[in-house]
Amino acid sequence: MSSVLEGFQQVGRDLYAAGLVSSHGGNMSVRQGGGLIITSHGSRLGHLAQGDLVEVGPGLEPSIEPSMDLALHQAIYAAASEAAAIVHAHPRHAIALSLAGEEIRPQDLEGEHYLGVVPVVPRGEKLAQALADALRRHRIVVVAGHGSYARGESLWQALQWTSVLEESAEVLWLLRALSENT
Ligand SMILES: [Zn+2]
Repeated sequence: MSSVLEGFQQVGRDLYAAGLVSSHGGNMSVRQGGGLIITSHGSRLGHLAQGDLVEVGPGLEPSIEPSMDLALHQAIYAAASEAAAIVHAHPRHAIALSLAGEEIRPQDLEGEHYLGVVPVVPRGEKLAQALADALRRHRIVVVAGHGSYARGESLWQALQWTSVLEESAEVLWLLRALSENT
C-alpha cells in the first residue's frame, strides 16, 4: 500500500498547494478490487498519512470513518467502468461559474481539447445518480456551488482534469472582466 499512499500524498499536496482544496476540503479514492481506497472523513489532503486512508469493500469492516462522499464515489465507479481513480476538489472559479450557469464551456485550447463541455449538476437527493450518469460521458463534472468530481485512469489524471478545469474557469472569468471593461 506504500506506493498507493505515495500517490495520494503527492496528488493531495498538489491539490492543496494549487489552492484547489481548502485545508480540510476535498477527497480522493482509487478503485481497489471490488471496492475502493478513500481518504477518511476530515483528513487534510495536503498532509495525508497512512492512517488517513481507508479501504471499503465487500466483507471489509472500515477501520476509520470514510469520507462523507463515499456513496458518490461508489456510484461513480459502478457507472463508469473506465474510472480507476476519483478526485473531488473545490476549484473556486469553477464553483463561481457553476452558480452562474448550466454548464461550463472552456474557451482556451487546453480546456476545449481535454474537457469539451463540463456539465453542472444540482445538489439534492438525486445527486449520486446525476453525477455518476454525467461522469459516464465526461471526465469531470461540477456540482453546483460545491466542487468538481473528476475520474481518471489514475489520481494523477484526475488531478490533471481538475487543474485544467480551474485554469479554463479562471480564463472565462478574466474574459468576462475584460468584456465588462470595454
Ligand atoms: Zn466538497
